[in-house]
Amino acid sequence: MTAAGSPERLLRIDLHSHSTCSDGVLSPAALVARAAEQGVDVLAITDHDSTAGVAEARAAAADAGLRLIAGVEISVSWQGKVLHVLGLDVDPDHAALRDGLAAMAQVRVRRAERLGEKLEQAGVSGALAGAQAQAGGGIPGRNHFARYLVERGHARDLRRAFKRYLARGASCYVAAEWAGLDEALGWITAAGGRSVLAHPARYQLTGTGLRRLLAAFKEAGGAGMEVISGVQSADVTATLAGHAQTFGLLASAGSDFHEPGAGPELGRLPPLPVACTPVWQDWFA
Ligand code: AMP
Ligand code: MN
Ligand code: MN
Ligand code: MN
Repeated sequence: MTAAGSPERLLRIDLHSHSTCSDGVLSPAALVARAAEQGVDVLAITDHDSTAGVAEARAAAADAGLRLIAGVEISVSWQGKVLHVLGLDVDPDHAALRDGLAAMAQVRVRRAERLGEKLEQAGVSGALAGAQAQAGGGIPGRNHFARYLVERGHARDLRRAFKRYLARGASCYVAAEWAGLDEALGWITAAGGRSVLAHPARYQLTGTGLRRLLAAFKEAGGAGMEVISGVQSADVTATLAGHAQTFGLLASAGSDFHEPGAGPELGRLPPLPVACTPVWQDWFA
């Protein structure tokens, strides 16, 4: 366990962020530059199903004097739900991870095409091309479709675009077959990384459902869970910290930053409760 007051408690650590290599709005280099401006000492870049931004982020981090953790946020289908599993400190060039993410890219391409068709049928013209433009040549995810919907006046803001068109249960939702939990954990472990269940409080689970998920995640070989994710109440943090101890999971903390001025800022995170064992406990030896 890490004692309060030990040196890494003084570091500003943010282990969840997005760049233009998925649905963030800053390039990997600009993301790192902003993190450095915000006083972040250790940043993980964790794009959805992609490590394409790691090399650029690494080079920028060397210039900025910031420690960059190579990461990824893998989409997982589990018992009819979509989970997000972070791989932290992975080797992005490892074949198992690289091949797994290449297969995920195909799933994302097909999902985007179907989503474009559904939106056309719902009266939104040019949705796929519009989302592709938002993605700047990358594979459009739901955030890119949401930005297009707002730009074209189909929704007042991103939240409403999700609620009306894109969220599960909304008119144009497209289900996809993401990675299996064992599969995703296998890729991360093979690539030398640590698997962390992202934002456990955001899966709309009951208390019992969340405990079942955490037990299954641990049983499958999961290493940790986010105890701090973006902006969340002290109550939720305390509950998650308790779960991390109960299930023997390491604790992580990340903003889930996507864009300046909307949603959580890089590095503005409360400290982990002292009873938690940080996922970074042996990174600074
Ligand atoms: P995707 O992986 O393309 O299905 O997109 C998932 C991403 O969409 C998440 O990481 C969030 O960035 C965003 N997202 C999901 N649900 C919502 C929502 N209700 N409101 C705003 N953004 C959302
Ligand atoms: Mn996202
Ligand atoms: Mn997520
Ligand atoms: Mn995320």
